[in-house]
Amino acid sequence: MRILVTGGAGFLGSHLCERLLSEGHDVLCVDNFFTGRKRNIAHLMSNPYFEVMRHDVTFPLYVEVDQIYNLACPASPVHYQHDPVQTTKTSVHGAINMLGLAKRLGARIFQASTSEVYGDPEVHPQSEGYWGKVNPIGIRSCYDEGKRCAETLFFDYYRQHNLSIKVARIFNTYGPRMHPNDGRVVSNFVVQALRGENITIYGEGQQTRSFCYVDDLIEGFVRLMNAPEDLTGPVNLGNPNEFTIRELAERVIELTGSSSTLIFKPLPEDDPKQRQPDISLAKDRLKWSPTIELDEGLTKTISYFDELLKIADLD
Ligand code: NAD
Ligand code: UDP
Repeated sequence: MRILVTGGAGFLGSHLCERLLSEGHDVLCVDNFFTGRKRNIAHLMSNPYFEVMRHDVTFPLYVEVDQIYNLACPASPVHYQHDPVQTTKTSVHGAINMLGLAKRLGARIFQASTSEVYGDPEVHPQSEGYWGKVNPIGIRSCYDEGKRCAETLFFDYYRQHNLSIKVARIFNTYGPRMHPNDGRVVSNFVVQALRGENITIYGEGQQTRSFCYVDDLIEGFVRLMNAPEDLTGPVNLGNPNEFTIRELAERVIELTGSSSTLIFKPLPEDDPKQRQPDISLAKDRLKWSPTIELDEGLTKTISYFDELLKIADLD
């Protein structure tokens, strides 16, 4: 198949392009390089079945493909809050443009949605039936509400135009090719530990997250995209093993052997207190569950950043 991956030069997108190429597909990576980097896809450039197009998904796109994975959107709070209007446009106009493309082509389309649609949840763990508790006017809203609106558009195209859709709600995922400066907790802690800098815990570090290693997540993407027509989602994809942020910092210090110490900074506005996916639906319908435990995934991530930090220019 010829497959379009928007946001293909980003952290998750680059792993997805790699996976699809390894399965023999022809891959078109579309990215505006806002948070994505050429370094993430440099190793794919010599593959004759890989093509890159610099394009912003808030503008229409006319290409011919069989499947579309829509990943374009900055994912770290630092990046999506940098230009919040563009973040909402990327989610909403981007979804409209990619859904329009899918409609013209009759192509199946996958949306990279997020656990952020649950906001600061009152239900624990979060299952797909929970509608969430999201602040519509806060600093995270450009991302949360943009992604919620994108889901609405996907389901309206499904009902109104009979489009083949797959919506994944992705929980915190980490691994090689995360941006070293994107402010997400795993990359921050690993880079700080490797540099021997203080580890910045926001709040008291008692808030929780459940961390999924990238290879597990990409397996879930591919299974969902190729699942039977009736499974539209939303489907939670993530690792249910929940840790406090303080526990994460302690694991990183131990695995790096770092002399870093923990320091405490103010908790950002609207920072969710607890997050853990209920993945019963993915287990049942996709026969999917994560296989890589935190220590194993962190070890691989640490060796990636260790190599990266030896290169002076981190762009
Ligand atoms: P990322 O920032 O590394 O990748 C996003 C990619 O989209 C980048 O390459 C960026 O340049 C590109 N992009 C941004 N705006 C664009 C635009 N207007 N036009 C074209 N390209 C654009 O982030 P990621 O972690 O790889 O996330 C990928 C997707 O998965 C995002 O949609 C994100 O919301 C979703 N997601 C990720 C996580 C996670 O933990 N990594 C969790 C939930 C959801
Ligand atoms: N966090 C932290 N120190 C950091 C970066 C993040 O304590 O240097 C916390 C952050 O406040 C949040 C959690 O780690 O509670 C996860 O943050 P991230 O930005 O990775 O993802 P999200 O909040 O979107 O889940």
